[in-house]
Amino acid sequence: MRFVRSVAVMQRLAKDWQRAGVRVGFVPTMGYLHQGHLSLVQRARRLTGKSGKVVVSIYVNPTQFGPKEDFSRYPRDLARDTRLCRAAGVDVVFAPDDRQMYPTNATGRFSTFVVEEDLSRRMEGASRPTHFRGVTTVVAKLFNIVQPQLAVFGAKDYQQAAIIKRMVRDLNFPVKIVVAPTFREPDGLAMSSRNRYLEGDLRSQALVLRRSIQKVQTDLHAARRPIPAARLKRNAKQFIERQPAARLDYI
Ligand code: AMP
Repeated sequence: MRFVRSVAVMQRLAKDWQRAGVRVGFVPTMGYLHQGHLSLVQRARRLTGKSGKVVVSIYVNPTQFGPKEDFSRYPRDLARDTRLCRAAGVDVVFAPDDRQMYPTNATGRFSTFVVEEDLSRRMEGASRPTHFRGVTTVVAKLFNIVQPQLAVFGAKDYQQAAIIKRMVRDLNFPVKIVVAPTFREPDGLAMSSRNRYLEGDLRSQALVLRRSIQKVQTDLHAARRPIPAARLKRNAKQFIERQPAARLDYI
């Protein structure tokens, strides 16, 4: 496995592979890897085959964090991530630093962003107004650096996957977007690098995320007549707000 920190080196590798007709599968992450990330790696490997290359990027992207969000305390452990990638059969870990990704130098500061203007405004985007702009910008950059034929994203970040698909279509990126299922803990909580923030009984309260979705499913299956979406939402809202720490942004 190769460990690459430089954009120029990664781009050169990508070009060599392209010339040799090698299929490249890509999994972009912010690191602090867990089984959910590794399930995307497995999917990328299945799709690229033994002769293909699987690239995992590890980069905590500052432009997708709001000023009051957790950028500085976001968990990081590059040594452990690298070990996990090697064990998972990854070919290249690409782990650039901020100066590589957002250069400010004699030719000027970084000033170009990719903005999706429809899907990004709703749901997660309503309470995090610059989040998806950061995501589309960094993913567009990573696609230009790694030049993959396919990239695997998790259904856990459903809106993100939808926005990336839209960006790829709208801007004609020659890459196929694959969305892989959410990987969960045995009790149903979706795996997430941020789960380590859940101290004390917040961990069990967080199960309401999964359970509220299941409750909506159960209500739908049990119904003999169509249920108005507004009522399903109202019921889910009540269900979620029974957890004392829950603050609802959207359903
Ligand atoms: P992150 O490192 O949280 O930015 O996530 C990197 C990629 O892994 C994104 O495509 C996420 O949707 C995906 N991902 C994160 N957690 C999970 C999970 N539990 N199951 C499946 N995919 C996941």
